[in-house]
Amino acid sequence: MSHTFQIAVFHGDGIGPEIMGPTLDIVKELAGSSDAYGFRFIDAPAGAQHYAKTGIALPDDSLKIAGEADAILLSAMGLPDVRYADGTEISPQIDLRKAFNLFAGVRPVRVAPRLPTPLALPEGRDIDLLLIRESTEGLFHTQGSGEVTEDWAQETLRITRETSEHLFRFAFDLAADRKAAGDGPGRVTCVDKANVFRAFAFFRAIFDAEAARHPDLAADHAYVDAMALWMVQKPWEFDVLVTENMFGDILSDLGAGLMGGLGLAPSADIGLNQAVFQPCHGSAPDIAGQGVANPFAMILSAAMMLDWLGGKHGIDAMRVDGRRLRAAVYDVVARGGSGLTRDLGGQAGTRAAAEAVLAELVDG
Ligand code: ATP
Repeated sequence: MSHTFQIAVFHGDGIGPEIMGPTLDIVKELAGSSDAYGFRFIDAPAGAQHYAKTGIALPDDSLKIAGEADAILLSAMGLPDVRYADGTEISPQIDLRKAFNLFAGVRPVRVAPRLPTPLALPEGRDIDLLLIRESTEGLFHTQGSGEVTEDWAQETLRITRETSEHLFRFAFDLAADRKAAGDGPGRVTCVDKANVFRAFAFFRAIFDAEAARHPDLAADHAYVDAMALWMVQKPWEFDVLVTENMFGDILSDLGAGLMGGLGLAPSADIGLNQAVFQPCHGSAPDIAGQGVANPFAMILSAAMMLDWLGGKHGIDAMRVDGRRLRAAVYDVVARGGSGLTRDLGGQAGTRAAAEAVLAELVDG
């Protein structure tokens, strides 16, 4: 019996709507040829342009649509020239993270054979790791309310047992899933600075307690500075990395760098009951309206949504389609030529790039 999922769609700003449109077309095509699942998409207005028009960045109605949906697809948001009165940027994605307590920021770092990377990977090596960034506390705890005086400034790093327990359980479950699917060896690495900060020793102890519940999975630790080095020197050795908010913020950009930039960097922000899927890049106002934006990070984010919904609701066909969609994007990139947008060295427009993915799905 087919299960229909309600998806809240935030079209975003700048190139946001240009990459969301073809992504929805692809997802509709996949669902259309499946008898296991279907979608109902509901537009949720929000963002910088919406704020410029109405004075509200994230209307209550949109928040309600998001809360009632099975998942949230969100495109690039924010515009550098549209800001709140205090000068900060419009970022409904951060408001959603707070509203739904989306503590697990999942940032895949994948470089399949023949895909662009600034690293000279040894023959036969590819990169396929998942970085999980705690996204609700850590050094972002006092975000926007840090103390600043004439002589000093301070922010507070906060780590709670409850969030850390959820975070580590999530990380081990994901590693188990990857192992079962043949995508990873089943290893979780806690990235911290437990040798210097008591808060990180606390974080690590909670990690160790969760690790003890998973004797079938490997668990180890790394200091964040060493991990920055290893992600460049031997990234193929890692499977699932789990870390604090600020460390994760930095390492996820390092991960995007390994993938040759943000054009192929999807993300998911996941909580106990809700999840947002969005590309890592911004709204690229410099190329908006030209039809040349690369849609692949958005499409890969939609593939993560299929994985998550399929896993949560026990619908294998959805997970299979998530894998197929990801593989189709990587095949188009690996083949090069007519399916690539300018940022990837090609000439294709957004639509043509998305159509190349669709063709790969149908014929590939
Ligand atoms: P933010 O702070 O909102 O994340 P940013 O200021 O880091 O954004 P982006 O909007 O990500 O910047 O753009 C950085 C550069 O990358 C710009 O030159 C932009 O044109 C380019 N870019 C970003 N996303 C894409 C995309 N999907 N396709 C093509 N080029 C892109």
